[in-house]
Amino acid sequence: MEEEKFTKVEDALSKKQVGKEVNLRGWVYRHRVTKDVVFVLLRDSSGIIQCTFKKGDVPEDVYDKAEQLKIESSVKIKGVVREDKRAPGGFEIEGKDLEIVHLAERFPIGRDLSEEFLLDVRHLWIRSQKMINVLKIRSKVFESIHEYFRNKGFYLTHSPILTPGSAESGPDLFEVKFFDRKVYLTQTWQLYAETILPALEKIYTITPAFRAEKSRTIRHLAEYWTAEAEAAWYNLDDCIGLSEGLISYVCQKVGRECKKELKTLGRDPDYLMSIKAPFPKITYTEALKILEKDGMKVRWGKDLRTNEERQLMTHYDKPLVVSHYPKDIMAFYKPRDPNNPKVALCYDILSPEIGIEIVGGSERDLNIEEMKKALKKAGEDPKKYEFYFDTRRYGAVPHSGFGLGIERLIMWICKLDHIRDAIPFPRTFRRCNP
Ligand code: ATP
Ligand code: MG
Repeated sequence: MEEEKFTKVEDALSKKQVGKEVNLRGWVYRHRVTKDVVFVLLRDSSGIIQCTFKKGDVPEDVYDKAEQLKIESSVKIKGVVREDKRAPGGFEIEGKDLEIVHLAERFPIGRDLSEEFLLDVRHLWIRSQKMINVLKIRSKVFESIHEYFRNKGFYLTHSPILTPGSAESGPDLFEVKFFDRKVYLTQTWQLYAETILPALEKIYTITPAFRAEKSRTIRHLAEYWTAEAEAAWYNLDDCIGLSEGLISYVCQKVGRECKKELKTLGRDPDYLMSIKAPFPKITYTEALKILEKDGMKVRWGKDLRTNEERQLMTHYDKPLVVSHYPKDIMAFYKPRDPNNPKVALCYDILSPEIGIEIVGGSERDLNIEEMKKALKKAGEDPKKYEFYFDTRRYGAVPHSGFGLGIERLIMWICKLDHIRDAIPFPRTFRRCNP
């Protein structure tokens, strides 16, 4: 294989390689020409290394090629590894030969460009060190989620993206023309997942979800990815345990295996590794008491807003489980708590620091009449949910499930200021390009 002839930059940056000749390939990250030395910072997916070409030491045509390089040109470089304290990374390549695979045009991204411009050229900004680090962590997060559920005996399964209605309903739905009918892009797999439980019992998915969020916040995407799980026989506590277990598993694995990337982004890997379930737990009612002490009075029965969640999280440095929200403001499938009919058997998990919701979950109501009542109250037609009610007609069992917003988790893990950098090509209210 051609690949075997080439050393990854990361592997060249090592004491073991000193004095050895290596072949590297990648892209020109920086380029500087002095009187008789050309410095090329070479980047590949694994790292960056300095390569020098000295006039007189290399054939004239090699020196000329090195001199005319432009940022982001693709090249192959042969050279010898030297230890050099002045070089970034402590090692450099004494260039011997150079092949220009493609000489780039003038690269449009330089220093100090506006956030808007960088979003316009996202297809090129994707090569930035920030995006490379985030994308590597993103890959690890997905890997960890699959691993966690697989280890727990959950089946991976899928629900349709095109749906006739929705569990969430309302103005946040994206309409799609489906032949001569109107259908909607999915917001959650939940209703379908519940119908799969009698077949597989413990299931999860990782899927895109769509919400026509007109809000311009740091935590809303119009297209995002969720990890969702649904489990037969699970009660609220089992479900909370499953989701806090997931968050700690991901944090541990990313903290252990992405140290370099985390540090570059300003996140201490040890902090991530200190995130261990069980998390602190309070009820909605207790949350209101904390907020009141902080001078933020919320009327019992109103949902927590962004600034209230953020204020609450100033008291915690780990994720927090908030449970038992008022039944009346919850989605129709969240059941009444038999011990306190004013609240539902549901919970959210809020992240520390940015203080946003990353998980929402609940037990699922088994009472068809209660659900119909709640749907009607929300202005929905219960007839559209007949297929769903069938799960309660043929061998209903207690069950629970949750959804985790993967970009929100990545945003917290990577200490990002905005959710858009947690995904390669963000779709928001104002942007659906490139
Ligand atoms: P919020 O109040 O922040 O809008 P939500 O209550 O609408 O969240 P849920 O309906 O419970 O969220 O969705 C489950 C999870 O999906 C959330 O905990 C969150 O992590 C994620 N999520 C929801 N909407 C978005 C979005 N627009 N962009 C990214 N992630 C989202
Ligand atoms: Mg929302």
